[in-house]
Amino acid sequence: MTTPEPIDRPTPPEPPAVPGPSAPPGTATSPHTVTEPSIFDADLLAQCVQCGFCLSSCPTYEVTHLEEHGPRGRILAMRLADAGDLPLTDPDVKESLETCVQCRACELVCPSLVEFGALIETARTEIARREPPRGLRGLAHRVGFFALARRSWLRAGVAGLAIMQLLRLDRVLPDTVRPARRVRLRELRRGYQRPRGIRTRGPAYVFRGCVMDQMFRATHQAVADVLGSIGYDPRFEPAPPCCGALHTHAGREDQARGLAQQTIRAYAGTEGPIVVDSAGCGAAMKEFGHLLGTPEAEAFSARVVDLSEVVTPAEVAARARPIPLELAYQAPCHGRNVQRLGDLPLALLRAIPELTLIEPDDEHLCCGSGGIYSIEQPDFGNALLEKKDASLQRTGARGVVSGNPGCAMQIARAGWEIHHPAELLARAMRPGGPV
Ligand code: SF4
Ligand code: SF4
Repeated sequence: MTTPEPIDRPTPPEPPAVPGPSAPPGTATSPHTVTEPSIFDADLLAQCVQCGFCLSSCPTYEVTHLEEHGPRGRILAMRLADAGDLPLTDPDVKESLETCVQCRACELVCPSLVEFGALIETARTEIARREPPRGLRGLAHRVGFFALARRSWLRAGVAGLAIMQLLRLDRVLPDTVRPARRVRLRELRRGYQRPRGIRTRGPAYVFRGCVMDQMFRATHQAVADVLGSIGYDPRFEPAPPCCGALHTHAGREDQARGLAQQTIRAYAGTEGPIVVDSAGCGAAMKEFGHLLGTPEAEAFSARVVDLSEVVTPAEVAARARPIPLELAYQAPCHGRNVQRLGDLPLALLRAIPELTLIEPDDEHLCCGSGGIYSIEQPDFGNALLEKKDASLQRTGARGVVSGNPGCAMQIARAGWEIHHPAELLARAMRPGGPV
């Protein structure tokens, strides 16, 4: 990942007095002092100058307009915990940190280049270590995260869900976990007939992952078709079960590391790009180097790409048939804020004739999916979805383009038809097009 240039900003104003769980560290107003070993990287924590430029980029701050629900208040909460003024598990501190959707929009606009993602992951891991989820929630976490890392378990679960949908029994599931669309159990089509006259580019690996591989196989197939149409030899194997992105989000860092190592091992001895069609997985895999801190992990991360990084708009324009549709384009947070893909995916899609893409006026704000955030924080998840639905309605479009399964499932809950960029590209570039 390239380090972003600092954004030109006016001189920061004086930081305001901050309400909530946020008396200045070490002051006499601190309710109690607790001795806890420091868990944060002191340099990272010190980087924030409390300017507040990030506030309007933060979706949860936009819901409540409370400091504790914005990046500045959350960093202050971490400083309080680090200084020993409040325990990290203090209910106010914990609420402030656990309501963060980890969209990392604050990183993109921060003039001090604060690595908020690293800070919040440290905090969430430590909270999960000190106070692991208990009772039913704890059981759901244990079973769910175990199953994500085992393809056969996940396949059985998704097959069960498909049967429930068939019998209309899925209505007993809570709204936040019930897929809005029918689950289809597809097989992947192996082998690709390359169009004549196309230069051979060697193998490209479609990363299948966990949820994507069970519920969005049509997207994997579309990625393979697009790669094949420009000369790659698309491969679905190796197929490690899960990249661990959801585990990282939930503070299960040990499991996330294990899955990262397993994924890297699976691709050992292969060469060529590893194309990831889930923005969240791509973001996590591009950060394996950071997570594991080994040269092997760095080298692996350098191979991970989004489809928009291997296909060019010119290649699309040369082959694409028209798709006469008007769709809203919602960039997934982990594509925009973590992978820093910028306008690449949009530029690819805009190369398809007659396809009109409209960005909602709150395009920079998260839809509230955030891994399992919409399940764990339903009030915030629903409030964010409501805001996103309203902005999508204002575009006047009839459907939405999103390159992340979590966003797709969340936005579909509001009744939207979702299109993955790869599926639109494959439809436009299928053999027989202009070339
Ligand atoms: S995170 Fe960055 S933008 Fe936000 S208050 Fe701190 S320094 Fe300012
Ligand atoms: S990661 Fe997203 S939700 Fe969390 S503080 Fe930053 S902008 Fe807000």
